[in-house]
Amino acid sequence: MTYKSIPILLPQNTSQAQMLAIRQSEYNNRRTITQSHDEAIQLVRLGNNESYIIIYELSQWPHDIQTLLLNYPYQLRTFHNTPNVQLHYRPCDSNIITQKFGANPEYYKRFGFPGHEGIDYLVAQDYPFYAAQNGVVVHASNLRWQNDSLSGYGWHVVIDHGSFYTAYCHAKSQLPVYKGQDVHAGDIVGYSGNTGNSTGYHLHFMVLSKVDTGNLYPMTRFGQPIDPEPFLIGLNPPPPPTPQTGIDILSYMKSDPNVWTVVRHPSGNQEDFRVYVYPDNKTWVMVKNNLGEWWEYDNTYISLVKDTSPDNASDGTERLYKVNPGRWIKRYMSVGENFNDGGHYVQFYRKSDCHPHPENSGESANNALLLQHQNNFTLNQYGQNITLDDVIIVKSGVETHIFARHQNKPFGRVAWYSPWGKSEMVAYYLDRGVLTNPPDEYC
Ligand SMILES: [Zn+2]
Repeated sequence: MTYKSIPILLPQNTSQAQMLAIRQSEYNNRRTITQSHDEAIQLVRLGNNESYIIIYELSQWPHDIQTLLLNYPYQLRTFHNTPNVQLHYRPCDSNIITQKFGANPEYYKRFGFPGHEGIDYLVAQDYPFYAAQNGVVVHASNLRWQNDSLSGYGWHVVIDHGSFYTAYCHAKSQLPVYKGQDVHAGDIVGYSGNTGNSTGYHLHFMVLSKVDTGNLYPMTRFGQPIDPEPFLIGLNPPPPPTPQTGIDILSYMKSDPNVWTVVRHPSGNQEDFRVYVYPDNKTWVMVKNNLGEWWEYDNTYISLVKDTSPDNASDGTERLYKVNPGRWIKRYMSVGENFNDGGHYVQFYRKSDCHPHPENSGESANNALLLQHQNNFTLNQYGQNITLDDVIIVKSGVETHIFARHQNKPFGRVAWYSPWGKSEMVAYYLDRGVLTNPPDEYC
């Protein structure tokens, strides 16, 4: 015979909180829970090779039961040691779980798991994933934990919490955190992106115990998958952030697509600047003649994600680069505030076929200082004598950027000074019409 439900044996000294957690976990409906010595013996004796029993904290059961269980002849027994896991926030705003831990054993066999190794929350596109507890990011990538091949988890983040890890999978690229970063419970660590082995927007959330709990899941590099649900009971997502204070840098940087500007270099070369805004309204590209800079923003950061403008490589190859994550400046800043951000990775590509080109590729960091906010600022390097209503001056490393608002419109970058070049706006058109197509993205 087989059991009607899989029994769970809990030791007598199990706390109320643990009991509640276990009762409310996925096992709730399907399983008999017992703490009785005699019933435990009976249940164990009913076992056969088509059944299994879950035993919590074997060491806390009386000796005769321990012996009986250790000699249980069938493979499918599990000893759960309660791992030391504590979560602070639910990892997303949604509370709709579409696939529980342990579900669909047939399907997950192919990955070496006895069932679904996490829980899936239903979310819409671009929903934030929140760190469930304080910790350190130990993986933020679309590659696997073991080697450099693409991961079925898509873009995903793993956080180390000391005695366990949490993982947040199927995010969109441009992860807002980097490996090595300290995060606080509630920080945004990704946005839903349906990447990897995923057929719709969702958060695949995992808790990975560093100790072997005795469940049937294999230990991975980041520990053993355990059911996150008992640790999420009664938890809420983090409260919405308090409204931002400071200057909204975006209202200067992301130009009005109707405003076209002409920028001159000391050599006399001129560039036409205009902006194409993608339909998602989150990405825009600053088109500079036939080159472009791709920018993205959210409520916290403005990011430079791709740039086609760098000089050719030493072998003459025309290139572009991508930065991940590309956080360039905070969205809201006060004058005098400094933004320091590390862990960026710059990858150069050959423009002709998008093949990676290693020269200049590597880790980078960004620093941006909001130096000044000024009204009635005059550009006159070439005698153009243009006075702009409102500018901000940003220092980024050794570069100085001036972004403007004029006649209540964002103008984007109107001047740029650096040791290797400089430019200033010499003319502008307020209502030129918008670009109807994005420029060539190359890759
Ligand atoms: Zn999943």
